[in-house]
Amino acid sequence: MKNTLLALLRKALIATLFVAFQHGALSADYIGPLFDAHLHYNEEAWNGQAGPHPVADVLTRLKRNGVKAVVSNSRPNDGTQLLAAAVAAQKTGTDASRGAPTADLTVVPFIRLYRTRDDYTNWFRDESIYQMVEAEFAKGTASGPYRGLGEFHLYDSANANGAVAKKLMAFAENQQLAVLAHVDDVAIELLMANTPSKGQKTRLIWAHTGIGGASIARVDALLGKYPLLMGELSYRPGLTCGEATGAERLCPEWRALLLKHPTRFLIGSDTWVNQRWQYYDALMQGYRQWLGDLPQEVARKVAWNNGAALFGLPLLAP
Ligand SMILES: [Zn+2]
Repeated sequence: MKNTLLALLRKALIATLFVAFQHGALSADYIGPLFDAHLHYNEEAWNGQAGPHPVADVLTRLKRNGVKAVVSNSRPNDGTQLLAAAVAAQKTGTDASRGAPTADLTVVPFIRLYRTRDDYTNWFRDESIYQMVEAEFAKGTASGPYRGLGEFHLYDSANANGAVAKKLMAFAENQQLAVLAHVDDVAIELLMANTPSKGQKTRLIWAHTGIGGASIARVDALLGKYPLLMGELSYRPGLTCGEATGAERLCPEWRALLLKHPTRFLIGSDTWVNQRWQYYDALMQGYRQWLGDLPQEVARKVAWNNGAALFGLPLLAP
């Protein structure tokens, strides 16, 4: 009788610890590789080699944060070309002088639609942008062909139906390019409707998963409707909840959504201004903290496997 009671108590204690661990109370940071699915290497970061964040600086930051792959795009595309060339040169050993050794870094190049800041508000109707994208796609990079278009922005959802926006969505799907779009939920539906498959075969990475704070129910519904829609989580309102511990923790409803769709989310730095490069370490540390709230298998997916699967990189073993 006494033994049975002890066994029951022990069982209850283990169950309590397990639940606590599952909910992050005792969780440790995620320590595996990271896939940064939203990186910019814009002109002001390097200014033709002499900016505050030359390639060597960027590569050092990625390396010390365990970032092993990046979706790179830049205004103009020269920044991505430069990064792709530096990493390719290191892989072949032709130029080891440009930064820390990064033979294990993969650059997944995307074509940015912006040559200058003016293009932000006009790209969806500017035929010369379409021509620029075609030419850039034909050129490719030293790290291989372009794999996506974007990031692009739509501040008015209706512009998803602009003549050039329509052509670019069809181009992306026909060339099997992913799309990185900073848009609202209404524009997601319009962009998807403008593809040959009506969004059923479109690999669309939703930057910030709705920076305006689309409801969790709405995000859930869109993930259900479009099988290859992915949510990138930088700047997502409501994702993490302030903790007395000072650590970044997932809010319960977001944790539930990530558990419901473990293969559909990605992390990203969104280094859209140089300040984001300065805080790159803290950004990645924040991700590692809340990734630690998730079951290991789910953390590995969001941190790495989901991005790797999108672009054919090796997956982490279970
Ligand atoms: Zn961005």
